[in-house]
Amino acid sequence: DFVDFVKFFDRIINRFEMSKSKEVEFIRELPDAPIYVEIDTDKITQVIDNIISNALKYSPDGGYIRFKLSTNDEQLLVEVTDTGMGIPPENVDRIFDRFYRVDKARARSMGGTGLGLAISREMINAHGGQIWATSVEGKGSSIFFTLPNNGDEGGEWD
Ligand code: ATP
Ligand code: MG
Repeated sequence: DFVDFVKFFDRIINRFEMSKSKEVEFIRELPDAPIYVEIDTDKITQVIDNIISNALKYSPDGGYIRFKLSTNDEQLLVEVTDTGMGIPPENVDRIFDRFYRVDKARARSMGGTGLGLAISREMINAHGGQIWATSVEGKGSSIFFTLPNNGDEGGEWD
């Protein structure tokens, strides 16, 4: 599908903001101008849904989630930062492994399978992008992903 990624991302954020049950503030840093890209919107929706539901699930009341979108000629960069429990540095790359969950006992009580980020990585890689995380334990986490900035390909108009 050919979509304005700014509007696409903003709508997903809105859906979570309207239905959230926690006192978590949503902060948007989105470009003013549209960014057209060719993506599988169902799959990228699934990726963003998982990242936002993780940020909510692993955050206490009172924090914030910051959504940042930036671009250059080559790619789009999406950043979702939360003020949640964070991830120990030695585990931060393993959260993309199938069934991996940081704290088994705590994770069981929070529901889920540990597949969300593994599937997200497959989908982002299939789009030619990359996904990774940084975190400070006890302070919060950031999930980043890129997508190719392929919106003005084709060249029919030159
Ligand atoms: P599922 O997404 O399948 O419902 P899940 O959320 O446990 O289950 P993933 O989304 O793959 O699985 O995340 C893997 C693990 O990474 C989580 O169980 C959690 O331990 C850790 N994690 C992911 N996102 C965050 C975050 N924003 N803050 C803290 N820990 C996180
Ligand atoms: Mg998840």
